[in-house]
Amino acid sequence: MFDNSSYDAHEGVHFFHDEESGLRAVIAIHSTALGPSAGGTRMWDYPDSSAMITDVLRLSQGMSYKNAMASIPHGGGKAVIWGNSKTDKSEKLFRAFGRAVESLQGRYWTAEDVGIDTADIEIAAQETRYAAGLTTSDAASGDPSPVTALGVFRGIKQAAARAFGNDDLSNRTVAVQGVGSVGGYVCQYLAEAGAKLVVCDVDKEALALVEQRDGAAVVGIDEIYDIDADIFSPNALGAIINEDTLKRLKVKVIAGGANNQLVIPQMGELVRRAGIVYVPDYVINGGGIINVAAEISGTYSRPWVDQKLDALMDTLGQVLDEATRTDRPTNAVADDIARARIAAGKTT
Ligand code: NAD
Repeated sequence: MFDNSSYDAHEGVHFFHDEESGLRAVIAIHSTALGPSAGGTRMWDYPDSSAMITDVLRLSQGMSYKNAMASIPHGGGKAVIWGNSKTDKSEKLFRAFGRAVESLQGRYWTAEDVGIDTADIEIAAQETRYAAGLTTSDAASGDPSPVTALGVFRGIKQAAARAFGNDDLSNRTVAVQGVGSVGGYVCQYLAEAGAKLVVCDVDKEALALVEQRDGAAVVGIDEIYDIDADIFSPNALGAIINEDTLKRLKVKVIAGGANNQLVIPQMGELVRRAGIVYVPDYVINGGGIINVAAEISGTYSRPWVDQKLDALMDTLGQVLDEATRTDRPTNAVADDIARARIAAGKTT
């Protein structure tokens, strides 16, 4: 594992196996410099254990950066469970997972991620105190997607101001990839601001909602990159910005909630050279983890969430301005700020 190219001096990587339930899970704690690590649990049918380890190493490092940019008192951690989220779930499995989280005694807080829903975390929470994203506790924060989407919408406006000279979206066309939990709310905000929407998704029901409610035009999932739009907002998959899709995009802004949008970090420089303002994903989508952090603090307070989101949006503006001033890719500038914040946490 120490030779894995995604290993970044992680503080701990913990492997769990439970014979009775079949649980195979890894919890990676990248850093606790800014506080107990926090990040969701992903359930995925990995091709092999090395893919699983690479994923958890990369995701937990990403959470350190995201949490640092969101100025919440948490380091970065992430959990992965090896299995098919449609066929391999059971109460025993999530109870065993809850015990695994509890064994780390608060160095890692879990919540939902891909393949994991509230019901799964509610089961795990019967075995651990360190689970958030609940619907039933006193401080329950519920679905983080609306807060994530509000941050994405505000981030789109900031990028528009820099790319077009103003943040008025009433005469802008936005191509939205994925209209699920986050993308759906993003469409609603954009439609209210008068933007013209072109959307794609594989889920027909989700598409019907934004078509009717927001007047969105629907295109096929592969057509979304070729739309004559001003802004591209990815809210579905990772790794969608690569050399091929970049050539096809006609937009001046890429800003959406999806995690890990750049196929490799070096794409940031190619995007910059193409004259596109790219809003780093882990900065624009930090609203959700802020909402979860409010729950972890023990007393959910919406004003606290709003104040943290305001601060995150200020940081986002600094990233975009610093990148312009220094002719550097926005993702590299964001990484530097995140690393500096983590290093400062380490010395205090
Ligand atoms: P979701 O599952 O509710 O929505 C994703 C949508 O993408 C679904 O409607 C799905 O049908 C669609 N989709 C799948 N494949 C597609 C394809 N090939 N083309 C177009 N659409 C496709 O998930 P979500 O919670 O909205 O999260 C979306 C993204 O945002 C993910 O990358 C997630 O990691 C990230 N994110 C979410 C939050 C949050 O608060 N939910 C916070 C931070 C980051």
